[in-house]
Amino acid sequence: MTTHQQLYIDGTWQTPSVPGLIDVLSASTEEVIGRIPEAAAEDVDRAAEAARRAFDGAWGETTAEERAQWIEKLAAALKDRMKAIAKTIAEEVGTPIVMATSIQAGLPVMVTSSYAGLIREAKLEEEIGNSLIVREPVGVVGAITPWNYPLHQIMAKVAPALAAGCTVVLKPSEVAPLNAFLLAEAAESIGLPPGVLNIVTGTGPVVGEAIAKHPLIDMVSFTGSLRAGKRVMALAAETIKRVTLELGGKSANVILDDAPLDKAVSAGVKNAMLNSGQTCSAWTRMVVPRARQEEALEIAKATLAALKVGDPLDPSSKLGPLVSAAQRERVESFIDAGKKEGARVVAGGGRPTGLDRGYFVQATLFADVQSKMTIAQEEIFGPVLSVLPYDTEAEAIAIANDSIYGLAGGVWSADPSRAMRVARKIRTGQVDINGGRYNAMAPFGGYKQSGTGRELGRYGLEEYLQVKSLAR
Ligand code: NAD
Repeated sequence: MTTHQQLYIDGTWQTPSVPGLIDVLSASTEEVIGRIPEAAAEDVDRAAEAARRAFDGAWGETTAEERAQWIEKLAAALKDRMKAIAKTIAEEVGTPIVMATSIQAGLPVMVTSSYAGLIREAKLEEEIGNSLIVREPVGVVGAITPWNYPLHQIMAKVAPALAAGCTVVLKPSEVAPLNAFLLAEAAESIGLPPGVLNIVTGTGPVVGEAIAKHPLIDMVSFTGSLRAGKRVMALAAETIKRVTLELGGKSANVILDDAPLDKAVSAGVKNAMLNSGQTCSAWTRMVVPRARQEEALEIAKATLAALKVGDPLDPSSKLGPLVSAAQRERVESFIDAGKKEGARVVAGGGRPTGLDRGYFVQATLFADVQSKMTIAQEEIFGPVLSVLPYDTEAEAIAIANDSIYGLAGGVWSADPSRAMRVARKIRTGQVDINGGRYNAMAPFGGYKQSGTGRELGRYGLEEYLQVKSLAR
């Protein structure tokens, strides 16, 4: 067990202003695997002052090329720690180790290093008539992140912010914060200049709100729940901060009547179950032609049966536990709501046998789900897939769009142009057509209440840039 007693502020390890610690639990053993400081608003003050000094000082003077080199060094230092990152996140989040290695550890390294190239290529000046238009860093960025893909979500903010020339005050999730200490270690090992990256751990209502309100912070980039995102946006309004929000989702996988059912259903089930369904962009609603629902359910059941549930540290596990007891309770209450409102349980619905420790829930498949039902509207954030039958293509599109969220989705058809036409009608930030491959350089973000702004790639960098016009 690792006990972290200090915060990484101004390039050094500093004692928090208050003594409290937060226990970090293993998702699979329920044991305490670490402790982190429960910091106070005064610690955010110190971090914001350090970030401001760095921004107004040497970091603000760096060239894009110099920052690209820092980003490369940081990516390499994270790469050196990939094994430790994967194991830490497998324990704190419960992500099976094979996936934790590629997604939880590998993806943040890749995203970080992508920003070295992106800032080198960025067009930071242009002429419009008699004006020179320059892109400048926004300033001090407050980053508030969740637990489900913890380091990915951190680096999707920290890497573009640093590349743009900003400095950062980061508050990682208190549920899965240990990976953020590995990032601090990586930053320290490369000698990242003081104040460029500051990490303050603690709770949302204390540390998160102090960041959202802070007068020295110019922008807040938040990933997390809709509830907390609304609060952050309201607090940030007091100082007119730039706000980007990556919030929840209730994404639809639209399977058209001519789609290759095997592929569409099995890919859809795997997508919905990734990280035990604790994925904001998960396709948690499968929209299938009514005449093919039973056939789809057979394929879905077989796909689920092949996903071995077990210890995240066992390389053969495909499905781990949920992150916490609270998350399991929430997921189970949604499963109960599905049953009460008349959806048909086709698989799962309870807890797996033989796994008494850890926050496990059975992968659950509901059929005959109607769009107005709770399980079709609320983000469950667990291994629960709802199958919604439809009669016409127009109805399928209407179901897909019947959500307050608009994050992601899928469309499947034997005719790629038909799939493209339907995808364009879906009001979400991204749609995968016939299983289109994940693209970490493409913009990621939401329509509607899934958020504002975009992350990753060139679009992700732009969020951290201001525009100045110099008329001559
Ligand atoms: P959460 O909102 O509870 O917490 C996210 C972060 O916000 C944490 O660091 C938390 O401490 C902080 N926070 C909580 N209350 C706050 C407040 N009042 N003020 C400031 N900060 C506060 O979310 P979570 O449970 O960690 O993560 C799950 C949620 O995140 C899901 O809704 C999921 O869809 C969403 N999510 C979205 C994306 C995306 O990119 N769209 C990605 C991952 C997760």
